[in-house]
Amino acid sequence: MLYDPKSHKAEEFINHEEVLASLDYAEKNKHNVELIDQIIAKAKLRKGLSHREAAVLLDCDIEEKNQEIYALAEQIKKDFYGNRIVFFAPLYLSNYCVNGCVYCPYHLKNKHIPRKKLSQDEIRREVIALQDMGHKRLAIECGEHPVENPIEYILESIKTIYSIKHKNGAIRRVNVNIAATTVENYRKLKDAGIGTYILFQETYHKESYEILHPSGPKHDYCYHTEAMDRAMEGGIDDVGLGVLFGLERYRYEFSALLMHAEHLEAAFGVGPHTISVPRIRAADDIDPSTFKNGIDDDQFAKIVACIRVAVPYTGMIVSTRESQKTRERVLHLGISQISGASKTSVGGYADNTPEAEESAQFDVNDRRTLDEVARWLMEMGYIPSFCTACYREGRTGDRFMALCKSQQILNCCHPNALMTLKEYLMDYATPETRAIGEKLIAQEIEKVPSEKIREIAKRHLQEIENGQRDFRF
Ligand code: SF4
Ligand code: SF4
Repeated sequence: MLYDPKSHKAEEFINHEEVLASLDYAEKNKHNVELIDQIIAKAKLRKGLSHREAAVLLDCDIEEKNQEIYALAEQIKKDFYGNRIVFFAPLYLSNYCVNGCVYCPYHLKNKHIPRKKLSQDEIRREVIALQDMGHKRLAIECGEHPVENPIEYILESIKTIYSIKHKNGAIRRVNVNIAATTVENYRKLKDAGIGTYILFQETYHKESYEILHPSGPKHDYCYHTEAMDRAMEGGIDDVGLGVLFGLERYRYEFSALLMHAEHLEAAFGVGPHTISVPRIRAADDIDPSTFKNGIDDDQFAKIVACIRVAVPYTGMIVSTRESQKTRERVLHLGISQISGASKTSVGGYADNTPEAEESAQFDVNDRRTLDEVARWLMEMGYIPSFCTACYREGRTGDRFMALCKSQQILNCCHPNALMTLKEYLMDYATPETRAIGEKLIAQEIEKVPSEKIREIAKRHLQEIENGQRDFRF
């Protein structure tokens, strides 16, 4: 197999020999200051890096150069995303699953975990609970089960979620994280109005992948790895990548993940919309210490920083798998989206009992309420954003990327963040959070560069104060 980023064959665009050659190149050059300086200079142009270049930065262990990489990651983050952090919440629909993934408690052989699939009424209750917290953007999660969770169930659930308007609440963007499927099903998801289609690769290392996925349809490495190509073919142009760090050597995953991003760019002209960086966590019958490739907090931070400089225009997501402390560290280095107050069990938002938590996919590390997380962000100078404007304005795929790469997106994101934050403060925040938020909005609105947009945004903020909702640029 030859490496070909344009190929639609998994083993050609994630070519094992090319990954190994990149790791070898990085190992040989990790002390090559001249080359590292050249790569950092290239990254400063904010047009991204190749997987080989980024691999050298990841391997570099020269403290001074690493500090330059961290500073650059932070600067790129500020340039592309400002001080906004977009919120989302996962919504687990069903934990029935026919796969055998050894790192997930929903695997078929787990006979004691409670199995649950939400009815449309139960989804309604979950969505109301999520709306009552202030969430506007969800990622639905579902095990793979052709009988319990067919595509029709997913489509009906999406329709239900979008239809619920409780008080001033609304879910304005539903991202979908379901198993690899057919072009036809991706087309149906597109038609249902989904935002991003998210599918974690788990590991790009084929041999390990097959061992970690011993049974079920997910065992097929190529079908899984080529899923984003089929999603694109089905018309979904915002896709989210991710690996589960801890399953394989992180250097391998890092290079392959960037090769996947390069492939999407080469084959479809659109890179990934987001990259997630989950690390393996404890769960029902899962002990993370049995996985020998776990990464520590320093390696994790370095990965985030290197992804940030390699793909500056791709959003980066960190979930409540990570602690407050870790989240705080990586927010500086490139994370643009976080989840808050997440429940990783089926039905866990409406049912707060410990029994409901028994069906959780993994243990949550950050258990704060959304109000606490929003306040914490603002105290650090970030703007919590509930914005969903791009998808609703049709700014997806290459249209989104073109705006993002030219940094034009900044003209929308900032006022949108402030207007959606204002809605949150009016409808859901505690008085203390609201006071901090109002002060922040008053300061930040003056930073909108265009006078025209600033004036319109100010007017909308007043209209939100008077009870109107849902403004966007
Ligand atoms: S990771 Fe997904 S496919 Fe695998 S067992 Fe868990 S729910 Fe099923
Ligand atoms: S304007 Fe678009 S890119 Fe900016 S925060 Fe909103 S949805 Fe995201």
